[in-house]
Amino acid sequence: MISIDTPALPYGANGLQPKLWSRHTVRRPDGVVTIGGVALTDLAEQYGTPAYVYDEAEFRLRCDEFRRAFHDFDVYYAGKSFLCRAVARWVAESGIGLDVCTEGELRLALSAGFPAERIVLHGNNKSAVELELAVEHHVGRIVVDSFDEIERLTTLAADRGVCPPVLVRATVGVRPDTHDNIATAHEDQKFGFSVASGAAADAVELIHAGGVLDLRGLHIHLGSQIFGTREYEFGIRCAVELLAELAKAGDELPELSLGGGFAIAYIPDQTALPVTELAERLRSAVGDACRAAGIRVPRLAVEPGRAISGPSGATVYRVGTIKHLPGLRTYIAVDGGMSDNIRPPLYDGVYVAVVAGRDVDGDDTPVRVVGRHCDAGDVVVRDDVLPSGVRLGDLLAVPGTGAYCRSLSNNFNHVPRPPVVAVLDGQARLIVRGETFDDLFGLDVG
Ligand SMILES: *Cc1c(COP(=O)(O)O)cnc(C)c1O
Repeated sequence: MISIDTPALPYGANGLQPKLWSRHTVRRPDGVVTIGGVALTDLAEQYGTPAYVYDEAEFRLRCDEFRRAFHDFDVYYAGKSFLCRAVARWVAESGIGLDVCTEGELRLALSAGFPAERIVLHGNNKSAVELELAVEHHVGRIVVDSFDEIERLTTLAADRGVCPPVLVRATVGVRPDTHDNIATAHEDQKFGFSVASGAAADAVELIHAGGVLDLRGLHIHLGSQIFGTREYEFGIRCAVELLAELAKAGDELPELSLGGGFAIAYIPDQTALPVTELAERLRSAVGDACRAAGIRVPRLAVEPGRAISGPSGATVYRVGTIKHLPGLRTYIAVDGGMSDNIRPPLYDGVYVAVVAGRDVDGDDTPVRVVGRHCDAGDVVVRDDVLPSGVRLGDLLAVPGTGAYCRSLSNNFNHVPRPPVVAVLDGQARLIVRGETFDDLFGLDVG
């Protein structure tokens, strides 16, 4: 018998653990998985594989849950986790705002009719065009991230005779327990102005000295896939101390954004905080810190990305080859991989997979689901257990791929990007079509 660490399997090797899937995911008696009432077998037939599937109702519910739980905050969906016109409309209709960080994301949101006053613009190196667009369309907030940017934006706004509302991105010196590439609040990284070094206070001074920008407050974003609220509590105390210092000097800033980063469960071992509890904890952490510092509680904001888009999405693949490596595990190769989901190689992202197209039996077998790319790091699911009856042509579905999969997708090995299909009430609708070779080769003009 192979001795290997296998995850807990409270739902069986091919079970659907509810916390990992959109809430409109069920397995029919014949073993076929349906999402939003659409059988993944039908979806695969119509749109091919791989395909990203988004449960529209789940996405809207998650926007709604954040809006309600954080009713006394401004809530912005972080578009970088996944954005297309349909999603921009879902977000707009839910009543929450949108966080963008490039010209492309901003143009896409505006082209979908997203109200500019509910958009916040981020970016550590915003282009002149990005700043101009933001000013011209009167986006709700611009989060300034460097001294150069403050000067550039001040000049631009003065030329146009406007006073854009800005927040200062503050680095609070906390290193969340997450992957290096998604930790954004320790001192030695590219985002924000350090509070400890005095840079954040200097940024505030520079904005006031310019006499043009409408400084509303501070912004902290600690990183991503953060479980619990310990790091937020630390970050909040640091930001509130700076707000208190500024207030003492007669400069009372009315706003504080806590950024995003709220974790989701990708595998059975992980558990996300319920949104209502998250809201309560953050609210009371700010309340406590403000009481201790003797300042009024500012207007608060959060920017959930993954926590809205992640569990709303899944990816459907087809199995192409299977290798049994005696004494190790079974390698199941699917028709996608690191071009449609780069999170495993990039961030050690973890996932599970299930056989989605039929009832499958056999002994629990340790498996690794790998992609089709020429790179040994091309792993979709590093460690999982599936019934031994998995065979060629089976459909595999991977939950939790709604965040940072399509948005980080790429054309490694000249593989075209898969389509994005929205499902709702038994209907499937293409919202982003899959790339064709004409799309890809059309760029090659040499
Ligand atoms: C990435 C990012 C977010 C969203 O992070 P999630 O982990 O997806 O919630 C929010 N705010 C800013 C500034 C970000 O860079």
